[in-house]
This record gives sequence, structure tokens and C-alpha cells, in this order.
Amino acid sequence: MSVASRSCEEPADVEAPAELGGAVIRAAAAGSRVAELLRDGTLARYPSCPVCASRSRRPVFDNAGPNRYIRAIPSVAALSVREIRELLQVHRCEECSASYCDPWLSRRTSGRLYATGFGQHVQGWRIFHESLADSDVETHCYWQKHAWEWIRAAFGPVRSYAELNCPFTGLLTLFRRAESDPASYRRLVQASLRNARSGRRYPGGLGASFRRLLRPAVSARAMRLVGSGPVATPRERCLVIEPSSLCWGSNCISSGVSCHALAPDLLGAALSNFEDVCRDGIRFDVAVLTQLDHHFEPMALLDRFLEVSTVVMVAGHSSNRFTKQHLMAFGPETVQHLVGRGYAAVDLTNETVHPSKRVVNQCFLVSKQLEL
Ligand SMILES: [Zn+2]
Repeated sequence: MSVASRSCEEPADVEAPAELGGAVIRAAAAGSRVAELLRDGTLARYPSCPVCASRSRRPVFDNAGPNRYIRAIPSVAALSVREIRELLQVHRCEECSASYCDPWLSRRTSGRLYATGFGQHVQGWRIFHESLADSDVETHCYWQKHAWEWIRAAFGPVRSYAELNCPFTGLLTLFRRAESDPASYRRLVQASLRNARSGRRYPGGLGASFRRLLRPAVSARAMRLVGSGPVATPRERCLVIEPSSLCWGSNCISSGVSCHALAPDLLGAALSNFEDVCRDGIRFDVAVLTQLDHHFEPMALLDRFLEVSTVVMVAGHSSNRFTKQHLMAFGPETVQHLVGRGYAAVDLTNETVHPSKRVVNQCFLVSKQLEL
């Protein structure tokens, strides 16, 4: 037996150095490839946590698989799907539990991905169409309803309200639906789509312009619905547009209609940016930010909103289910980090997820002015 055992063990003893040597060779090749991609500007280094700036981190295994964004990256950069999965290492911050990639796409490459590689926020449009069909009651609608209840409990009646970049992933559709019956909402959506569709704006020269003048303005119809429903909704709404090369921006179009074009007419939200907000001295009771993880400096942008808002709700992808659509994702310990920075913050992740659904997003309230 002892002889047989030795004969089985011997090849392993002999192969171990060869395997180690292979791993060293593969690591050297990967390092050389990363260096090449850093030099040509395809990738960039992100050596510290985008949330807390700590450099204390541990690598984590990326088991998310290739999503639609990973599959789109090769169309804008000389990277294969295999390289994206193997070279863009995911790390978990030891301080705040955020996950992030290092290396990750440079801002230039990321800008191309979100402009031409995958220039449409599919999830946002899905939520919009489900609001129309009234078919999403357990995921986004559930989050909307409970997020709004928690906001109202923390702040009380909300007069002025803001969102960031995407008009569909926050509460704006909840407000509009609450202000009209389902049939009126569907008619309003169809009218807003007709009005905003770029291909019909000037289809027939002067004659079309006259016909357009004779058509009732959608915004007038929309305004008649404000405040007419049973749920108290904010009368002043604003969609703050902040450009980011990690975001679809004005390129986010479905069937010839930009999501931003629907914000004023359909959702009653004025379009603005931080320059205008600061110049005009605008203040928000509440801001709901669902696109913070689509910015390279999410905490700097959060601080800007906290300067002009009494309460901010953040909802974003969770580091427990990190995918390489993003540079980073918030972690379950982000709230403790914010409290450590002196902010009032409370985690509402579990309170806003339907009991039958798994947690894929982190959700928290934060304020520099209120005790939460
Ligand atoms: Zn961190």
C-alpha cells in the first residue's frame, strides 16, 4: 500500500513546480497585457475605493458572468470578453464594503461604451414601459411605494423634489401614476411620446409646423393632472442632468424619443443642472439618486446634492451582486461609513425589497441637516 501511495503521489510532487511555473507565466502575461492597455488609454487604474478612498482591499471572484455591457465593450475597445473578465479585477473595500474594479475602463473608453457600445439604459426604459402596463408590482413598484413611505416618515410632506439623470428609475413615474387613473396615464404617455418623437417634430416643413400649432400642448394636459390624485406628491420636481462618461446621458433614446424629453411633459419635472441649481439658489426637500454609481466620483456628487437637499435617498447596485457594468457598487456597510463621516444615515435596503425578491440594490437615506 505504501508503495502504491508513493507511486500516486510522486507525479503530483513532480508537477507542482510546473503548475506554479505556468501560473507565474500567465500572471506575467496578464500584467504585460494590462500595462499595454494602460499605455494606450483603453484602461485606467483605480487604486482606491471610490466611496471611502481607502486602499485597503481584497480581490474577489467575479462570478456574474458576461452581461450585455461586457459583451458590448469589444465593440468600442480592443478587449475580448475573456480579457474583460480576467484582467479587470474586482476588489472589495475592507473599510466600507464597496466593490470596484481596478483596472477599469478609462473615461474615454467608458464614454464610448455608454455612447455607442450600449447607448440605451434598458432597465430605465423597462421600468417606464412596465409603469405603462402596470405590470411591475413586486420589484420597482414595491421599492417606489416603500421608499416614498420612508421618505415621508423622515421628512413629512415634500414640496420640492429632485432626481439625477434617469427620469424612470426614481419616483417620478410613481407620482405621475398616482395623479391619474391608469387610462389617463396611458393617454398622457402616448401623447407625450407623439410630441417628443424626434422624427415627427418637423416632418413636413411649414404645413407640419402649423398642424403642430393646432395640436393641444401635452404639457398643459400634464399640468392639469398635478395634485389631482389621492396621494400627496411634490409639486416642484426637477431632473438634474449631470454628464458622466459612465452614463447614457442624452443618448438614451427609445423609438425616437429621449428619456430626457419625456421628463417635463410626462413627468412634470423641470430639466436643470447643478450650475443652474446653484445660480438660482434652488433647494430641494428631497433628492432621490439612483444613478450615483454611474459617476466616477459618486461621493463628491452626493455631497453636492446634500448641500442643496434636506434629505437624499440613494439606491444603487449592491456590492454583494457586483457586475462589470459599473466601476463600483455600494456595500452593506456604506451607511456605517457615512455615519463615521458625521452624516445621519439609515440603511433601508431590506425595508424596500419585496419579501419574495433577492437583494440586488443597496438603498439608504442620508442627511446633513436632519436626524434620521
Ligand atoms: Zn471603501
